[in-house]
Amino acid sequence: MKRTIFETEHEQFRETVRAFLIKEAVPHTADWESAGLVDRKFWSAAAAHGMVAFSAPEEYGGAGLRDFRFNAVIDEEIVRTGAVGDGFSLTNDIVLPYYLDIATPQQQERWLPGITAGDTVIAIAMSEPGTGSDLRAIKTTAVRDDGGWRLTGSKTFITSGIQADLVIVAARIPEDDGGGFGLFVVAAGADGFEKGRKLDKIGRRAQDTAELFFADVFVPDADVLGEPGSGLHYMMGNLAQERLSMAVVATASAEYALETAVAYASERTAFGKPIGSFQANRFTLAELSTKVSIARVYIDRCIAAANAGELTAAEAAGAKFWTTELEFEALDTCLQIHGGYGYMEEFEVARRWRDARVQRIYGGTNEIMREIVGRSLGL
Ligand SMILES: Cc1cc2nc3c(=O)[nH]c(=O)nc-3n(C[C@H](O)[C@H](O)[C@H](O)COP(=O)(O)OP(=O)(O)OC[C@H]3O[C@@H](n4cnc5c(N)ncnc54)[C@H](O)[C@@H]3O)c2cc1C
Repeated sequence: MKRTIFETEHEQFRETVRAFLIKEAVPHTADWESAGLVDRKFWSAAAAHGMVAFSAPEEYGGAGLRDFRFNAVIDEEIVRTGAVGDGFSLTNDIVLPYYLDIATPQQQERWLPGITAGDTVIAIAMSEPGTGSDLRAIKTTAVRDDGGWRLTGSKTFITSGIQADLVIVAARIPEDDGGGFGLFVVAAGADGFEKGRKLDKIGRRAQDTAELFFADVFVPDADVLGEPGSGLHYMMGNLAQERLSMAVVATASAEYALETAVAYASERTAFGKPIGSFQANRFTLAELSTKVSIARVYIDRCIAAANAGELTAAEAAGAKFWTTELEFEALDTCLQIHGGYGYMEEFEVARRWRDARVQRIYGGTNEIMREIVGRSLGL
C-alpha cells in the first residue's frame, strides 16, 4: 500500500541519510560491534549532515524541524541500510525532547550547541539495578544542599552511558525537600560520578550500555530540568514518543525481514522446487506480509497523530508492543526460512534477530505496555 505521510522534503532527506549511512556507517559495522561503541567521529559527521538534534532551534545549531517524520526517516534508514548503533533514536527521539521542552532558555543556550554539533553525547538514566518497570520504586535520591542538590545512587542498562557527556538522571526527592521525583543533568567528570562496566549484551553490540554510579554528586540548581518534584510527569509525557520511535524501528525491521525471507524463499531450492513454493512457507509468508502491511498503516497513522500532538500514551504503548512482537516474529521466520545459514553470523539476519530481542524489553517491557493499554480501557 502506498505510504501517504511523507512530502518531497522528507524523501529528499531520506536520500541524503541513506547515502550517508551506506558510506559512513555500514562499512564499519564489524569494527563498531567488536569495539562495543560507535566511533565519535562518525557522530560529528552525522551532525554535520543535519542528522543530529535537527529539531533544536536554529540559533542553537538545529534546523527547528519538530516534525517526527524526519525522525522516522532516520530510524527507518538505519534499519534499511543495516547500520548499527542506537545513537540517532536515543538522541533525536528520546532524550532531546527533554532539552527542548523543559530546559530553560539559559540551559538551552549552554547545552544545545554542543548537542547539535555532535560534540556532546546525551543519555537518560531512569532504570536501576533494583527496578526498571516500576519507576516509582527508584532509590537514587537527591537531597537539598546550598544552591543545589546532592545525588546518590546507581543506574544500570544506560544506553550511551560510557560515551555520554551529559546524563539526565531521574532521582527521588525526600518529602522534607518537597517530595516527588526530579530530573538532574550530570556532566561526565563531575565529582562522585563514576561510569561502571560497559555491559556485555547478546545483541546491539555496537551500542554502549553502562552502569552509572553517583556518590554525593553536587548538581547546581542551574542543572535541574524543569520543576524538581515533577520528574515523573515529564518522563510519562516523553515516553509516548520513545515508544513510537521503537515501533517505527520495529515496523521497518519487520518489512526488511519479510523482503529478505521472500527473496531467499524464491532462490533456495529443496526437493527440486523453490522453498517458497511449499504451502507451509507460502502461507507463513502470506500471513506475515498481511500483518506487516497492517502494522505499516497503523504506525504511519501514529506518526501523523504524534505530529498533531494527538498520540495518546495507550496508542503508543499498543504500537510498541504489537510491532516489536511482529518484528521478532518476522525476523524469526526469516531466520527459519534461511535454515542453517540463518544461524550463521555471515548472514545478516542472524545479527538482526539478536538485535531485535531487546525491543520487547526496553522502553517499558511489553507486559507494562499491555498494562497501559488495559488501564486505558478502564480495567
Ligand atoms: C539494551 C538496553 C538498553 C536500555 N537503555 C536504557 C536507558 O538508556 N535508560 C534507562 O533508564 N533504561 C534503559 N534500559 C532499561 C529498560 O528500560 C529496563 O530493562 C526495562 O524497563 C525493564 O526493567 P527491568 O529490567 O528492571 O525488569 P523488571 O522491571 O524487573 O521486570 C522483570 C519482568 O517482570 C515483568 N513485570 C514487571 N512488572 C510487571 C507487571 N506489573 N505486570 C506484568 N509483568 C511485570 C516485566 O515485564 C519483565 O518481564 C535499557 C535496557 C536494555 C536491555
